[in-house]
Amino acid sequence: MIDQFGREINYARISVTDRCNLRCRYCMPECGVKKISHNEILSLEEVLRVAKIFSQLGIKKIRLTGGEPLLRKNLPSLIRELKNISSIEQVTLTTNGVLLKTFAQELIAAGLDGVNLSLDTLEEKIFTDLTRRKLFNNVLESFQTLLGKNLRLKINCVPLCGVNDGEILKLATLAKNNPIKVRFIELMPIGCAWESGLRGIPTAEIFSMLENNFGELLPIDKKNSLQGPAKYFQPKNFVGQIGFIDALEHKFCGSCNRIRLTAEGFLKTCLSFDTGLDVKNLLRSGENDDKILEKIREAIYCKPKEHFFDGATKFQMYQVGG
Ligand code: SAM
Ligand code: SF4
Repeated sequence: MIDQFGREINYARISVTDRCNLRCRYCMPECGVKKISHNEILSLEEVLRVAKIFSQLGIKKIRLTGGEPLLRKNLPSLIRELKNISSIEQVTLTTNGVLLKTFAQELIAAGLDGVNLSLDTLEEKIFTDLTRRKLFNNVLESFQTLLGKNLRLKINCVPLCGVNDGEILKLATLAKNNPIKVRFIELMPIGCAWESGLRGIPTAEIFSMLENNFGELLPIDKKNSLQGPAKYFQPKNFVGQIGFIDALEHKFCGSCNRIRLTAEGFLKTCLSFDTGLDVKNLLRSGENDDKILEKIREAIYCKPKEHFFDGATKFQMYQVGG
């Protein structure tokens, strides 16, 4: 559907849990998330019902995220059901990779189209310091397992001053011989990131670091309207691509195509504002699908024009799924 500013909204990020098996310093406090009862989280049946309504409103791509989505039981069967919705063209997953090796076959068999694997470093020590968990080898093995599979693979790295500066070239090199996209995402000042004192490395700095090392980065044209805000480039002799998501330096709100559903069933229409709709309440108050669809349509129509990060949003990144 088209919102009040003429943007086509066709992409939904659905968080299936806010729990996680890592504690990345820019995302989640050491103590983890506030425990809430199972009943407060949307059931997978409810997620599917909302996804079907989304699809009637023009959503064509769904990304499952979290928290760590692979902690949610029966995720492959949810993926299979989502793939059965005829107008959904892509179902993808964003994961930290800790459990990915274990579930890879099941996810592929369910029809998963692509994986975004978050990997900020190839050094075990930096990984352990940053995530506060000793699980680096699980993630590395997951990455290696996925490489040979028929699945679109992207690596997400958040560059942080004084933390993983020395990892940028190593991570980018993964796209040299592998048909994958390695993306550098600017740190967004939300929740823990706002309080942690960590500072992101500006995209322009990363860009010149890569050009100095690999030669000119040649821009790649956007292939379709489902593609997110990343801008892609390819150095000569690279099989894969390098992507940049610089939400702060270059606002891409004018072409934003996404909405987010939290694990607790709140529809968030912009990352930086708390505006949206309590979908869970509607689902559980006996409203029929047509009524819920109309409410969701109104909420999406009113999607804010552009983001404004001032630390005021009550949502944490692990609740909205990145
Ligand atoms: N646990 C999964 C993972 O890490 O891939 C999915 C959820 S996580 C919130 C999704 C993405 O958000 C990750 O790539 C993570 O690096 C990114 N992220 C978390 N906090 C961020 C922040 N403050 N700024 C930018 N990206 C952030
Ligand atoms: Fe967990 Fe992902 Fe947040 Fe790291 S970024 S703490 S893996 S939800």
